[in-house]
Amino acid sequence: MLDFKNVWKSYKNGVMAVNGIDLHINKGEFVYIVGPSGAGKSTFIKLMYREIVPTKGEILIDGVNLAKIKQRQVPKLRRKIGVVFQDYKLLPKLTVYENVAFALEVIEEHPKVIKKRVMEVLDLVKLKHKARSLPTELSGGEQQRVSIARSICNNPSVVIADEPTGNLDPDSAWSIMEIFDRINDNGTTVVMATHNRDIVNNMKRRVIAIEGGMIVRDEQRGDYGYEA
Ligand code: ADP
Ligand code: ADP
Repeated sequence: MLDFKNVWKSYKNGVMAVNGIDLHINKGEFVYIVGPSGAGKSTFIKLMYREIVPTKGEILIDGVNLAKIKQRQVPKLRRKIGVVFQDYKLLPKLTVYENVAFALEVIEEHPKVIKKRVMEVLDLVKLKHKARSLPTELSGGEQQRVSIARSICNNPSVVIADEPTGNLDPDSAWSIMEIFDRINDNGTTVVMATHNRDIVNNMKRRVIAIEGGMIVRDEQRGDYGYEA
């Protein structure tokens, strides 16, 4: 479902952040992206949701070449992809309910569908009781759960997360991982960049290590592989 074919990315300042990545991820896989700071993980993730485009090479999601789609088709592409960030990126003036609903309003989903779906995903992340709260009234772990609810509300085929537990204490991090696990059990592909050694070592999923913008390791049921 997700293919990188000899993908390169250099930034305007000349930094070569991704240097010839070839990769295939199947539907329903759960993949951790690990590697030291500055290795190119975020760049790789941004290429995947077309925040940036490759300098060279092709990226295909469900057979669609990301480089070939027009700017106005990007929103449609984003329906296939849910994205979760380290810093949640919730809209501070909107309630939990409104933050999730907003993602469905922008794609002009029917109001009845929106209401049903928002409550469904808030139930999945166990935050129905906080639907009326503002993000500032929630703990970090809860804010990340809202952000995950938002990322899955339009049934994407893949959820991409960049250090989703980076700002969280270990207990909150584990509850976030349980949610990603459940999302993956429902058939959604999950790709996650992380520095969380304990989580990676305990989950025994596919681990792809990136260093210097290249894949240096790709193992099924892999370990984190770096010192904490
Ligand atoms: P990681 O997520 O593994 O820490 P990044 O993808 O953020 O790695 O960074 C890879 C390299 O690209 C680093 O050398 C970083 O400084 C550089 N880089 C990242 N973003 C930009 C940018 N917008 N402009 C220029 N260089 C960047
Ligand atoms: P965690 O266990 O994730 O670290 P916290 O200790 O930060 O959570 O918060 C515990 C509970 O208190 C949560 O249910 C959260 O919604 C609530 N809470 C935290 N900060 C505030 C706040 N500023 N206003 C209202 N409720 C809050």
